[in-house]
Amino acid sequence: MPAPPIEINIGDIVQTRKPHPCGGAIWAVVRIGAEIGMRCTTCDHKVFLPRSTFERRVKKFISRASEPPQPPEPAES
Ligand SMILES: [Zn+2]
Repeated sequence: MPAPPIEINIGDIVQTRKPHPCGGAIWAVVRIGAEIGMRCTTCDHKVFLPRSTFERRVKKFISRASEPPQPPEPAES
């Protein structure tokens, strides 16, 4: 049985199963349409993937734009 489509929103941060050649594996979703646009947060490279390919490549969501922001980690002491 196919899994239901996952919800994707602009601003979501995702981790891919395989890292980008630059070494980064964290991507920001920048466009939703016929294809999903995402930008490598390490090298700023942009790629556009069909939703089915996007869903296969994504390992997990780091943060969801549709949810309230998580409490920031303490950056300063
Ligand atoms: Zn990259």
